[in-house]
Amino acid sequence: MTQLHNMTVAQLAQTLQTKQASAVEVATAFLARAGGNPHHAFLDIDSEVTLAQAQASDARIAAGTAGALEGVPIAHKDVFVTRDFATTAGSKILSGYRSPFDATVVQKLGAGVNGQGGAGMVSLGKLNCDEFAMGSSNENSAYGAVTNPWDTSRVPGGSSGGSAAAVAARLAPAATGTDTGGSIRQPASFCGITGIKPTYGRASRFGLIAYASSLDQAGPMARSAEDCALILSAMCGPDLDRDATSLDVPAENFCAKLGDSLSGLRIGIPQEFFGEGLAADVRTAIDAALKTLEAQGAKLVPITLPRTELAIPVYYIIAPAEASSNLSRFDGVKFGHRASAYTDLVSMYKQTRAEGFGEEVKRRIMTGAYVLSHGYYDAYYLQAQKIRRMIADDFQRAFADCDVIAGPVAPTVAWMLGHNASDPLADYLADIFTLPASLAGLPGMSVPVGFGEGGMPVGLQLIGNYLQEARLLNVAHQYQLATDHHLQQPEGI
Ligand code: GLN
Repeated sequence: MTQLHNMTVAQLAQTLQTKQASAVEVATAFLARAGGNPHHAFLDIDSEVTLAQAQASDARIAAGTAGALEGVPIAHKDVFVTRDFATTAGSKILSGYRSPFDATVVQKLGAGVNGQGGAGMVSLGKLNCDEFAMGSSNENSAYGAVTNPWDTSRVPGGSSGGSAAAVAARLAPAATGTDTGGSIRQPASFCGITGIKPTYGRASRFGLIAYASSLDQAGPMARSAEDCALILSAMCGPDLDRDATSLDVPAENFCAKLGDSLSGLRIGIPQEFFGEGLAADVRTAIDAALKTLEAQGAKLVPITLPRTELAIPVYYIIAPAEASSNLSRFDGVKFGHRASAYTDLVSMYKQTRAEGFGEEVKRRIMTGAYVLSHGYYDAYYLQAQKIRRMIADDFQRAFADCDVIAGPVAPTVAWMLGHNASDPLADYLADIFTLPASLAGLPGMSVPVGFGEGGMPVGLQLIGNYLQEARLLNVAHQYQLATDHHLQQPEGI
C-alpha cells in the first residue's frame, strides 16, 4: 500500500471507505509529519482536536453515514474562522482570537451541521498566510515567512503560501486557500501543486475574514485536478442567508466531466500574457504544455485581453479601498489584541492598530482611505471601477472565440526570500497575470507543467467563463493523465 502521506485525496477516500485504514490512523500519520512544523507552514496544530474529529469520522464510517470525503485530512488557511483552532489571519491584531463558529466552507468540508451533511474531512489545523491575505510571498505574515519545499531559500508564493507548502511537502493531502488577486493560483504554481479559484460567489464567504469583499473567493489546493474537483464539489453551493454575494447556483459534481475529450476544445492564448516580462524558462514550460494540449485535440486560438496591464493599478486601488473599510472592525474592542497603554477611547484605537497591523496592511489601509476620500474618489476609485467593467467585457469578447483561456500564472518562478523586501511594488507587478480574472470574477486555476530556473515548478493558468469550473478541471485532468509533472515531489519528502 502507498504510504498514507503520499496518497491523493481520491486514494485516501477509497482507503478509508474500504476500511484499509481508519481516520485516526490517517490523521496520526499526517500529524506526525507536521510535527516540528516543517517550512513553518502551520500557525495552529492541536492533535487532540484533530484526533477527536477523526474518531467522529470513524464512527460515521462504522455507522454507514459517512460523508463524501469522510476521514480525509485537510488543513485550512488561517483566514477561515474555526471554532476548534485559533484564527489569526496571519496578523498580530488577531493573536489569541477564537471564533465562536466555523466558516461555512469549513463546516461543509467538515462534519456539517450537528455532524450531518458535511463531507466529513478531518482538520489538521490552520495554515500560515500573508497578513489578511495581502501579499504574494507569504513574507507579510506577522508570524514569520513560509519556505518553499522545492528550495527553502525561496518563497512559496502568497498569500496562501502555507497551504501550498503544506501540500507540496505532503504535510496535508489538501488545503483550503483564498484568492483575491491570485492567492490560490500563484502559490500553487510556485510550489508545483494544483489549485482552483471558482467563479466569484460559488463558495461562501461567510466566516472568511474579509480582505477585498468583491474579489475574495475560497478554493481548494491539492496535488491533482481530480482532488480539487472532489473538494470543490463539497465546498460550493448557495449560502444566501449568510453571504450577500453568494450565487444562487446549486452545488455541482465537478468530477462529472473530468473524462471528457479535449478534441475540438478552443484554447484562447492572450498575446498580452506572452510579451516582454515573461521569463524565458516559464515561457518554455508553458509552450510545451500548450503543445501537449494541442496533441490531445485542443485548438489554440490567438486572442487579445488589451487591458491586462491596467489590471495592476485597478486592483491596487479597489482591493485596498475595500480593505480599508473591512479592517476598520479591528479596533481593540471586539477581536484579538488590545493595546495595554492608552489614555482614552481614540488613543486605544490608535495604539491597538499601530501595534497590531504590519507594514503592508498599514500601507493598504492608507492607500484605500486615500482613494476613497472626498476629492480623490472620482479620480481613482470610480475610474478603477469603470476599467474593471471594461476588463470583464474584454473577457466576454474573448470567450466568443474560445472555450478556455491559457497562459502563465506568474512571470517568473518563485523568487528568493527577501528579494523584494525593499520594494513592495515589485510584488504587485508580479500579480499581472492573475489579477484580470479576479477583477472579472472568473474561475481560474493553476496546473503544474514543468520546471524552470533552479528546478522550480511552473504553473499553467487556465481561465474559464463564469461557472465553467468543470471544464477547467476537465482540461487539467486530461493534461495530468498525459503528463507526470503533478506527481513530482521535492527532494527529501
Ligand atoms: N498578491 C495580491 C495582493 O497582495 C493577491 C493576494 C490575494 O489574492 N489574497 O493583494
